Amino acid sequence: MRCRWWGHPPHQFRPADRIAAPGTTVGWVPANISLKPDGHIIDGDIWGSSGDLRILPDVAARAVTGLTGAPTPFDMTPGDIIGLDGTPWSACSRSALRAAIAAMEQATGLRILSSFEQEFQLFDTGLPDAHVFSFQALRRAEPFAGRYFAALSEAGVDPEVIIAEYGADQYEITTGPTGPLAAADRAVIVREITREMARLQGWRATFAPKTRPDAVGNGVHIHFSLVDADGAPVGFDASRLGRLSPVAAAFCAGIVHHMPAILALTAPSPSSYLRLKPHNWSSAWTWLGERDREASLRICPTVDLPGKDPARQFNVEYRAADATANPYLALAALVRAGTDGIVRGLTAPVFSGDPEQLSSGERAELGLHRLPETLDAALDAMEASEALRNWFAPDLIRSYLGVKRAQAAEAQGLDDADLCAACAAQY
Ligand code: GLU
Ligand code: MG
Repeated sequence: MRCRWWGHPPHQFRPADRIAAPGTTVGWVPANISLKPDGHIIDGDIWGSSGDLRILPDVAARAVTGLTGAPTPFDMTPGDIIGLDGTPWSACSRSALRAAIAAMEQATGLRILSSFEQEFQLFDTGLPDAHVFSFQALRRAEPFAGRYFAALSEAGVDPEVIIAEYGADQYEITTGPTGPLAAADRAVIVREITREMARLQGWRATFAPKTRPDAVGNGVHIHFSLVDADGAPVGFDASRLGRLSPVAAAFCAGIVHHMPAILALTAPSPSSYLRLKPHNWSSAWTWLGERDREASLRICPTVDLPGKDPARQFNVEYRAADATANPYLALAALVRAGTDGIVRGLTAPVFSGDPEQLSSGERAELGLHRLPETLDAALDAMEASEALRNWFAPDLIRSYLGVKRAQAAEAQGLDDADLCAACAAQY
């Protein structure tokens, strides 16, 4: 394919190449993190109009593809926000994830591999109806899926599978496991490529957790597995409950323990809570479960086939997340909570069944607590958590709470359908 304007293949037209020069940074303004999804800075923003920051590109994480169909290549480089003195900005979420990874390595000698499984819907397509999950549901959208997969591959995000999901216009994209920073980068890059390719077709892609109160939810399931310093898996033990090794069981117990407090970081929109309900295949309880799609922390299956090592396949997914979450903060919270579980030797039962069928006493005995049911309740739990105050800089927490409280207050005046529609337009 040749670029119409320049006569060069589009991948040679890369004005962003200049960011690769050492020491190149881009300007940024602190108050930007006080922007709500509707594009307005909150009243009472803690940053004000002063101050200057720079974005330091992580050139190794750059994602380029000329295959989205746009006249110029998709060219995106994640970066860390730094002060003018070159040190990480206290409220930079990518730096917060870096710090969480370092703290985990220091405390446990271990790392995680991670991957974001993301669901989205395509609107305004004019495509004929097709049976959910069907081959036809995917093929009717061609050349979308084929080109999409090629573009994601060229961009280096290692796409694994694209499927037509349960919702009539819903799709799911998974990428291969990698280090946590790259996993969060990939989550962002995938969303941007998805939106760009849909837009170029005259369609609209949305990752909003609920596009209508009665619609199937769009989840983000954050997969993780534990590895040692050499990259060898340490989370699998076939002889133990849930096949979780002691260290993996403690990591999961830490996440279960802190789940109410970190929920505001992983499900941070008023409409997130329309998704997190029992019998929605999302998650509603502080529940570690084996191969159950209602569990908030689901121990995923492995396949017994020649040449397939179960220890390398074995992973757990956190299902109480959606794409309105900042993937760096969400993953940082999971890493911190899991690390705390290992350091304190926490335990959590592996429960099979339906928590709704138990008495409240039985649930309490099993540690099955209902997750906060509104954004405000989740923010209360976040504010009350001492652990969280140790994991994130005070400015980051204060600023985050300000934005989210403002969103929660504005949502009071909207009914569920309007809430979903607004979020679907923004995400
Ligand atoms: N759509 C479901 C959710 O909101 C997930 C379905 C699945 O992939 O298990 O999380
Ligand atoms: Mg799915």
